[in-house]
Amino acid sequence: MTNLLLSCFLSIFLPLTNAPDNQGVETSDTDSVSVSIAPFHGNARAALSLTYDDGCIDQYELIAPRMDSLGLRGTFFLIGKGLGEGALSWDKIVSLDRRGHEIGNHGWTHTDLRKIPSDSVRSELRLTSDLIASHIGHRPKSIAPPFNSYDKRVLDIAGEFSIAVRTFQKGLGQGKHFGQRYTDLPAMKSWIDGIVRDGKWGVTMVHGIRDGWDKWEHEEDYWNFLKYAASLEGLWAATFAEVAAYRKEAAECSLKVERCPEGALVMTPQCNLDPKLYTMPLTLVIRKGEICETIDIDPFGAPVIYFLK
Ligand SMILES: [Zn+2]
Repeated sequence: MTNLLLSCFLSIFLPLTNAPDNQGVETSDTDSVSVSIAPFHGNARAALSLTYDDGCIDQYELIAPRMDSLGLRGTFFLIGKGLGEGALSWDKIVSLDRRGHEIGNHGWTHTDLRKIPSDSVRSELRLTSDLIASHIGHRPKSIAPPFNSYDKRVLDIAGEFSIAVRTFQKGLGQGKHFGQRYTDLPAMKSWIDGIVRDGKWGVTMVHGIRDGWDKWEHEEDYWNFLKYAASLEGLWAATFAEVAAYRKEAAECSLKVERCPEGALVMTPQCNLDPKLYTMPLTLVIRKGEICETIDIDPFGAPVIYFLK
């Protein structure tokens, strides 16, 4: 090991720096070897985050068990005031967290954050974050602004309490008032197929299933959509915070690659983000000729030695 490292100091040094707008994809080639950071974890082609707003009890009783059985995990954006006092008890919220689902922050009173002073925005987000943390043991990492209403001021303040804010989403539901937005199974399949085809991050938003303002007329459509999404090749289904963290790490962390004479690569990650908040491993894609392999590394970890085949 010592000899290998010594010889690597004498080898060519290949800095590999990621531009902030490239979603983490940057390649450095030498002697037909390339190393890049995958745009999504596991070198998936696209990502999907299934999010749920307002803490409707259907989400616990109907949605979460189906997600568990399919190996999917969702992000549940909960309203702080009165949380745990209704049907969605703290036992149930803690259970969701322990099963790997994400508990997110949806404000204290479901107020339009754009329409209240900055101090009130802070209060809405802090109170909810504190309350959730006191029960599940850690702060929510994600925020969904009520009514999906935000501006730069709201986003700046939200950044004090989260690593990610939901600023885009595909609303799913079949309430009659949805009109043209009626979401049946073919429409949802077509949407997620497009996400995979285009290599994007799709985020869905659902409220109730049998109850609530956008309840479903044909709930089987949603169950079949979940099954379909879970079966799609190349789609990374993960919580909102996980995908957001991965993308931020891929965009902002860098990797130095040294090529050693013994046929090894020494890859040294460098990342200035907070390791307590950004905990997703980064997937590296290593190509040499016809060979393409992926490995996961800790962006805050020690240098990784990889032996080329
Ligand atoms: Zn809401």
